[in-house]
Amino acid sequence: MSLDTLSGGDLGADRVLDPAGVLPQAARRLDPDPVLRSGEIRLRVRTLNLDAASLRQLQEKHGGDGDAVRRDVLEIVGSRGKMHNPVTGSGGMCIGVVEERHPDAAADVQVGDTVATLVSLTLTPLVITDGLAGWDGHSEQIPCDGHAVLFRRTSLVKVPEDVETRTFLSLADVCGAPALTARVLADRRELGRGERVVVLGAAGKSGSLSMAAAQQHGSEVTALVRDEAEADAVRAARLADWIVVADATDPLGTLAALSSAGGPADVVVVCVDAPGCEHAAILAARPGGTVIFFSMATSFSAAALGAEGMATDVTMLVGNGYSPGHAEYALELLRSHDGVQSLLAPQPRVPSVRAAPVRVTQRHYVSEQAAHYADGLVAGAYSLGAFGDVATELMIQEAGCEGLFAGYDTVAFRAPVQAGDVVETTATVVRRGRRSRHLDFELKVVARRVEGSRSSRLAEPLVATTARGVVVVPRGHEEGKDTP
Ligand code: NAP
Repeated sequence: MSLDTLSGGDLGADRVLDPAGVLPQAARRLDPDPVLRSGEIRLRVRTLNLDAASLRQLQEKHGGDGDAVRRDVLEIVGSRGKMHNPVTGSGGMCIGVVEERHPDAAADVQVGDTVATLVSLTLTPLVITDGLAGWDGHSEQIPCDGHAVLFRRTSLVKVPEDVETRTFLSLADVCGAPALTARVLADRRELGRGERVVVLGAAGKSGSLSMAAAQQHGSEVTALVRDEAEADAVRAARLADWIVVADATDPLGTLAALSSAGGPADVVVVCVDAPGCEHAAILAARPGGTVIFFSMATSFSAAALGAEGMATDVTMLVGNGYSPGHAEYALELLRSHDGVQSLLAPQPRVPSVRAAPVRVTQRHYVSEQAAHYADGLVAGAYSLGAFGDVATELMIQEAGCEGLFAGYDTVAFRAPVQAGDVVETTATVVRRGRRSRHLDFELKVVARRVEGSRSSRLAEPLVATTARGVVVVPRGHEEGKDTP
């Protein structure tokens, strides 16, 4: 169908309840009435796939309380007639069975076919009828009963028989990323321009497919991942020439990390599901390079004004979720790159994003044996040992396992710790990934020996050591899996 013969109904404009005159994606509220209008198809929904940025935002908002996340999703869908996260502006997509097809519908599908939508839930009229009873509020993929309405222009694809449905759902959600990466690289080759690629958030779904696209194109690829656990996963997937561990929300840290891994690149693909990566992405690009902002957490103003402030000449592209043949291309990458399969396979559950505890505190008496230097002063390693212990208790409560310490980002020794002190160590979760937990640590002296065996509580606790570090849930210990 050419665009000049399009009618509003083809795009679902007649389903918009509020405000009048906009298309469904921009609407506050859609009409999800199951009675079909011209050109429409109704799906019996089986699974929703929440967009990663949206799920992260909801989990952070509710401190990992799955029931509260579920209530919020139901509230959004109930009030808006679609899954359109008002904060991230993103939605996801769904899989369902064709229940009814208007005679004018254009898609080549029949009643009974299982299909995945290739358009966002932010523009898909949706009704949920089962209260999402089978969902724990943690996983991106949500068992769901209800109906969705697809317009004549809605892209959809039949679920292939040789690919596991949940893997296909993950792939369909992000298949725009590899297609755009491939197109940008092909255009650059035609113009004789550089083709080195950096993928930020490389261990995720869109990241793995984007790396596979770049590898198939013959580009040198640097994967930027968040922690050692993700680095291991990308290494095993053999999709990158270089792997660096860095926080993509830290621009200078990212630049420094890249300097030992091929340096800035010609094409940077942003696949991180968290906000604040614009400046790192721009610094990761060479002058004349291209940054593909696939992430829904991207801020237009941060990107545009940041590039201006850095006086950096890069082309910045919004990652269009659609391009012709994008699902078929992503399927080809999945079938031809074993590594994609492992990174794309949905996590059984996002582990341990529970509401509590976010903070654990322990107290210790610093014995004479701990004294290392003159006047009973203990070595800095004492604080790190105490942080390891408090992190272990926190991870046992958070994740039901001890966790593995991946490393410290910062450690600061601010005041002495002495034999005879009573110290209080606190670990606080400041950020959660799928398997990673970013923790802030503090060790305070709360009581100190005065003379002989006389000690007294300090009126004001003395902050002796602070740190920030990353602990990961070991593979196989994710919630919902049997621990070995
Ligand atoms: P994903 O599978 O969750 O992958 C995101 C990856 O980024 C994860 O490996 C995550 O690690 C990592 N990460 C998070 N914070 C990081 C940081 N500070 N530094 C480095 N890495 C970090 O997400 P996805 O499904 O591929 O989606 C990626 C983005 O694309 C999301 O924003 C999503 O909304 C968006 N999206 C866009 C479109 C479009 O049409 N443009 C369509 C679908 C999705 P942890 O798991 O350890 O946190």
